[in-house]
Order: sequence, then structure tokens, then C-alpha cells
Amino acid sequence: MRWATTADDAQAVLRTEAGTAAAVIDWNLPQAAGDGGETGGAEVLRHAGQRFQNLPVFLITDGEDLEHLPLWVAETVIGYIWPLEDTAPFIAGRIASAARGYQHDLLPPFFKALRRFDHAHEYSWHTPAHSGGVAFLKSPVGRAFHDYFGERLLRSDLSISVGELGSLFEHTGPVGAAERNAARVFGADRTYFVLHGDSTCDRMVGHFSVTQDEIALVDRNCHKSVLHGLVLSGARPVYLVPTRNGYGLAGPLPPAEIQAQSVADRTSRNPLTQGAVSPKAQYAVLTNSTYDGLCYDTLQVAQALAPSTPRLHFDEAWFAYARFHPLYAGRYGMAVGPETFPGPERPTVFSTQSTHKLLAALSQSAMVHIKSAPRAPVEHDRFNEAFMMHGTTSPLYPMIASLDVATAMMDGPQGRCLIDEAVTEAIRFRQTVVRVARRIAAADRPNWFFGVWQPETVTDPATGERLPFADAPLELLRTEPSCWQLEPDADWHGFPGLTTGYCLLDPIKVTLTCPGIDATGQMSHWGIPARVLTAYLATRDIVVEKTDSYTTLILFSMGITKGKWGTLMDALMDFKTLYDHNAPVEQVLPELVAAHPHRYTGQTLRELCQEMHNHLRDARLVELLDTAFHDLPEPVTPPQHCYQRLIRGGTERVRLTDAADRVAAAMVTVTPPGIPVLMPGENTGTPDGPLLRYLTALESFDRRFPGFRSETHGVTVAPDTGDYLIECVRQIPAQQTGRTAGEHHKTPTPHPLNPQLPTA
Ligand SMILES: *Cc1c(COP(=O)(O)O)cnc(C)c1O
Repeated sequence: MRWATTADDAQAVLRTEAGTAAAVIDWNLPQAAGDGGETGGAEVLRHAGQRFQNLPVFLITDGEDLEHLPLWVAETVIGYIWPLEDTAPFIAGRIASAARGYQHDLLPPFFKALRRFDHAHEYSWHTPAHSGGVAFLKSPVGRAFHDYFGERLLRSDLSISVGELGSLFEHTGPVGAAERNAARVFGADRTYFVLHGDSTCDRMVGHFSVTQDEIALVDRNCHKSVLHGLVLSGARPVYLVPTRNGYGLAGPLPPAEIQAQSVADRTSRNPLTQGAVSPKAQYAVLTNSTYDGLCYDTLQVAQALAPSTPRLHFDEAWFAYARFHPLYAGRYGMAVGPETFPGPERPTVFSTQSTHKLLAALSQSAMVHIKSAPRAPVEHDRFNEAFMMHGTTSPLYPMIASLDVATAMMDGPQGRCLIDEAVTEAIRFRQTVVRVARRIAAADRPNWFFGVWQPETVTDPATGERLPFADAPLELLRTEPSCWQLEPDADWHGFPGLTTGYCLLDPIKVTLTCPGIDATGQMSHWGIPARVLTAYLATRDIVVEKTDSYTTLILFSMGITKGKWGTLMDALMDFKTLYDHNAPVEQVLPELVAAHPHRYTGQTLRELCQEMHNHLRDARLVELLDTAFHDLPEPVTPPQHCYQRLIRGGTERVRLTDAADRVAAAMVTVTPPGIPVLMPGENTGTPDGPLLRYLTALESFDRRFPGFRSETHGVTVAPDTGDYLIECVRQIPAQQTGRTAGEHHKTPTPHPLNPQLPTA
């Protein structure tokens, strides 16, 4: 029980005590300082309504007040208390009974059933063999495991033979009820709980939506799992190319890229589509939002792509919260439905979400949401085949419970409240960085500081007034989506070809910018590469999400607490001081110097930053990156063929100097910008072509700056030489395909698209 004697205190209790099961509020509580109008009691009551769904609230009031109370009050409270007229035990009994009812109704279907089962203390005669943890107790190491995780987790790890909990494959019982509840909360026709990450969701949807030799339209900025879906299905991908800005950040697919005509052009230019079963794509997949927080107007996207595909998949791994805050209205897949997109053209929409990434769920817990359209109806029984094929028959029930709870946390007004907190803290941080930079400019310090990638000014639509970002009211920034839209051709974002409202920057994904380059790619004579900054932040136990050449991404998620970012601000200021005082690298990054003493001993922080900046500039890395991402490599064969070669020893690792004109067998992704530069089945091009020049430049960067290696996936680095090695299809005559004589395969005929490859 908590007592609060002021409105402020009461609101602080409501904010921090999520376990509150009932509240008694005095209507005549003094109001918080400075606020006019309402009584303190009214403020607290409103706050309780936003924070909790159906919390039983009793109001203490004089009998005479009752008829003067606003209507919403009567709708919010469940009863009144007149302390002088009833006995204390009677009042306490009413409150306790309301609290019990609330606690009972609070729990979502599956979690409730699981808890009930846990209370039963039955003996089990089924798998898992640890039998509620008992098996672990029979060995010292098992005991350590049991003690560490506790009995509760092990008791709730039940077998699917426990009928009372329903079936994940049949979507029955409490599991089915939990999925239906999630469909309602996330706005889907149907929702599927997936226990193997959004990676599995992506493979499942890809595997279901497109089949052998059909065309798939694929955002080049896609996750590895999307590619795996293509490998499984045998699809022929046509890649759609996102924009990029001067920082090297990947933008959205621009509106022109998804128009029917440009899709048709890309499709017909792609040699792989010649062998396709139909010239029309069956499926399109996009990443929404991007890692850097760029999210689409999904209705615009659906309308643009509708002529080109009957199925549209938004990979929303980082965006499961979008439906619960008005800033993101109309920016998530499930916002596209018969109400917003009437008529027969509407595509079926899939949204796949890593629930665990930005909502509160256990790792791996994910969901597929579907809005089916008559054009490409998703029949449950058929989709369920794909679901079962990618699922386990032994699901971990605590994970299902976490999906159930993550859903319930977002249900009702509290969902908005929780997301709003992250949004608010992110905006406070964003404004603080700009204000600190201003104070530095006004003081006698060297005039530079880090920046945040965001608009410099915003417009208040109510007044039409244009305000500097740092001076805009918090209330405006956290409620007005237009403040975050990427206006066409605005300098701050640097993405060409956008239209009004098409793309929005999500405030909770904060990109810090370092001096050295601007959004249009203009480089200055000095700079601080972000890798040096993040290496320093790591020494302060601050781990960022992702680091590009001059930017670094930090996330403000639901786990944020007020002012947590204060330590980050402090570290940024300290970095500035160290830089301005030209501190030795040994002092700033002692571990780096210890690992590479010959390289960095005696160098100062400023010298290191400048040397790296000069290298990035002289190697023209940003420019090379630009061409590598825009001039896509020539497709030679579908990804599935490469995979078939891979498992039969038909591929090899090749040095960049030997890699010209080879067919890649694995995806190569470099950060920045985290988009694949090379996909399996694509040709590596000429030695001085965009791809090999770019990878060679990265390789030389890594050699020159040990300890600051580029983030490359799909590239193996030779430990002795530092050479980059990429997986390529082995060049062998068509007669020898690596198959052993014992296998019952007919002699392969040369692949029609590439004689080096056999047909499937
Ligand atoms: C992380 C991620 C995935 C995979 O999600 P997991 O839940 O980690 O399996 C898929 N797509 C994108 C865009 C991602 O960022």
C-alpha cells in the first residue's frame, strides 16, 4: 500500500508501481503546482485512466460534489467512498474485492491458464524429461542450473501433452485464444505466434507466398532471413533499390522505384525472369521501418505496388509498437485493409515482427500478422502447413506466455503510455544534444559537437509557425507526425526523390552524427569517424546499436528510464574534452593500444581521428559505396541454385584479387549501410567494377586500422594476411558437379542461364 499526499506524488506512484491493483483518490487533493483548472484529484484520476486499463478507482468526495462531477469521472471510477458514513472494515472489504477482481481479469488467456496449471502441482509422466526441474536436481551442474533459473521457469516448461493449455499447431485452447487476442490488439485478421524469431516468420511468409521459378520483388535492404525464404522457395528475385544519403544511411525505396512501370522495367531487364513461370511477381517484401527508423506510409506503398503483386510483406522486425502511438498512424502493415484500401486491387498484407526486439517479450518470440485480401486469399489450413513446417512440435511455454503478455501490455490506453515514454525520452535527448551544441558555440570552447540526424526546424500546424527543433514544445514533437516526416528534398535527410508524407523518421531511433561529412555527402577537411567514438563509448559501458562511418545509432526502447541518457550525454561531453585537449590514444582507448601497441602508441586522439578521416576521404569510400549500391551486380542464377552448390562442395572461398567475374554463393553485407552489396547468384563484376573496388577499399581500411574492423557479413577474413575472402560458386566444367558416382542423379545438363551451373 502506498500513500501519496500530493497530486505529483500520486502520479509518480502510478508511473512506477505497475503492481497497483486498486486506487483510492481524494477528489479534493491539491493540484500540482502551476496547473490550472482541474483539481489534483481529477489530474490523478486522468493519469490512472491512461496508465492502467480497468484499474478499479474509488473516489473520495463530499456527497454534495457528486452531481457537479464531470461525466468522464463517473465513467472512470467504479465507486465512491464516504469515509464518515461507512465503517472502515466495510470500505476496506470493497477495495480488496475490487482489487482481486482486477488482478484476475488482468491476465491474458494463455498466461492465466499457465499459472493455473502451475498451481496444480501435478506429477507429470510426459516430456520434457526434466519433469518440472526434478531431473536437474540429481547432478551438481544440474543443480546449479536449477538454482540459477529457479523452479518456476522449470515447472512452467510443460509438454504439449498438457491438453488444458491448447495447441500451438492447431491454434486451440488458451494458445488459440492468445493468438486471437493478439490479432485484435495488432489489428490483424489472423495472428500466428512464432517461437524462432522474426527470421522464421520471414522464411515462413516467403516460403508460403512464392514458389519455384516465380518472381519475388525484394527490397535490397532486406534481412538475411528474407533471402533464406527465397532459397527455400526457389524464387527468382528482382531487387528494388532503396535511396541512400551522404552519411551512407539507407533510406526507403523511393516512390518512383515502386511504381508499376519501374517495377516492370526492372523485372524485364533481369535475365532471371526469362525462365520464370509468369512475368508477374507473386510477392513483394520490404523492410519497415529500416534500422535507422525510416517508416513508410504503408497505404501509399500498397497502392503503388498493387498492380505489381498480389501479396505484400512488411518485415517489421523493429516496429511492433507502431500501432500503439498516434505518431505512427498509417505507417505499419496492418493499417492496410478493406477500410483504408477498398476495392479488388488491395493486396494481401503480411507483417512479421520480432516482438522481442522492441516490445517486452523473451528473445526469439515473434509474430506473423495477416490481412487477407480476396485477390490472394490466405486460407488458414494452407498457411498452417508453412507454419508447421517452420515450427517446432515442442514449444517453450514461457515464450508463448511472453507473447501473450507483450500483447496485453499494449492493449488499451497503457500501450500508448508506454510507447509515449520512450518517444518522450528520445525527444528530450534529441533536443538536449542540440542545446548543448548551441551552448558550446556561445562559450569559449572549440566550436564543434556531435549532432542528431533530424529536422533543423519543424512547423506547428496549428499556427503555421516554423520553430527551431530544439525550441519546439515537447507536446508538439510527440504528437504531430508532420514534424518527423521527410519533406521532399530537405537538406537534413539527404534522400532524393521523396514525396510529402511518404516517409517518416521514427523519433525513438536516434542517429548521432559526428563531424566530417553532411547528409549530402560533402566531406570537410577534418572529422571524427564514428568508430572512434563508439570505441570510446564502449570503454564507458555504453553499447550502441550500430555504427556507420560518421553516424551511430542508439535506440530508445520501452526499457528506458527517465534520464538514462544522461550518462550518454556525459560521455559525449567527455569525448569532446579529450579530443580538444588532444589526449593520447593510450589514455582514451587503453585496450586498443594494448592490443596493437606498435600501431597506436604515441598517437593522440585527434591524430587518430584525422588519419582515419583522411583515409576515408582519400579512398573515396562514400563514393565507392554509392556506386556499389546503385549499380547492382548482374544476376546469373537464382539463390537456390547457389545453395545447392554450397552443400555439394560446389563453392569456394576466393580472395578479392581472384574474385572478378565470379558468381557469388553467399550474401555479402557491409555496415554501413547494412544492405547487401552482393547476393548469391550475382556476378562479382570486373576487377575495377563498383563491387570489387568497394570491398578492396574496405579491406585496406581494416589493414590500416586494426581494432576498427568494418562490419562485414558474408566475408571471411584470412587470419594471417587480413585478406577478404568471399564465397563463390566453383568454376568447374559442367560434367563434374561434385556429385559422387553413387547418387542417383541423371547427368546434369548445363544451366540455361549459366553453363557453369547445372539445372536443378
Ligand atoms: C532482426 C531482424 C530480423 C530477424 O529477427 P529475429 O527475431 O532476430 O529472428 C528480420 N528482419 C529484420 C529487418 C531484422 O532486423
